[in-house]
Amino acid sequence: MEDHDLLSELFDPLFTFYFSKDSASRLSNLLGVPHIATGDLVREELASSGPFSSELSEIVNRGQLVSDELIISLLSKKLAAGEANGETGFILDGFPRTIKQAEILEGVTDLDLVINLKLREDILLEKCLGRRICNQCGGNFNIASINIKAEDGSPGIIMAPLLPPANCLSKLITRSDDTEAVVRERLRIYNEMTRPVEEFYRSRGKLLVFDLPGGIPESWPKLLHALNLDDYEDKQSAAA
Ligand SMILES: [Zn+2]
Repeated sequence: MEDHDLLSELFDPLFTFYFSKDSASRLSNLLGVPHIATGDLVREELASSGPFSSELSEIVNRGQLVSDELIISLLSKKLAAGEANGETGFILDGFPRTIKQAEILEGVTDLDLVINLKLREDILLEKCLGRRICNQCGGNFNIASINIKAEDGSPGIIMAPLLPPANCLSKLITRSDDTEAVVRERLRIYNEMTRPVEEFYRSRGKLLVFDLPGGIPESWPKLLHALNLDDYEDKQSAAA
């Protein structure tokens, strides 16, 4: 694999529905490279008749975790196919989450940059508990409204709720795993298993820590700035 990957995103698994996925797919659109989330790789393989699909469906049906080796196999297959199609890089979303995964990944491809999107745990918890799904149209919403005032030198954080349209209001449900106990357990696992991955990439000079200043409208321009991409959008449209 050539050394032309653009970005990888290391993130708290809990961000999936708010930031990581949104930021990662925006970056992939901006840079014209694919957005690869390992959960999607597993779903794609399950839906196909690929070489790993029967092994995967057994694992998923037993409720077990997909092994690192299997995830890396799926990822390698995806990257090789992309390279054969002339893709110039990729954005990896939510992977690696452990040191072991990072070590295996290092043998498969060479990442240029790892971005860790950070948010205070109390806000993270509130946003997780604010998640709602419409049981009719499947739309994802968030009723939590974050408005933290700046104090003691730390900046304020504003995150608007993502409210459902009127016809979804009476059909909102909460996922059974969006409870405080489950979220706190995921945070504990994150701190134990994923936090060391920061140091792994920091020691290689590849880590960018980005403190989220709010929701996507507040974060996106600052993220582009942090990546030296703030005039990239203009250049792209000027070239078009
Ligand atoms: Zn709806």
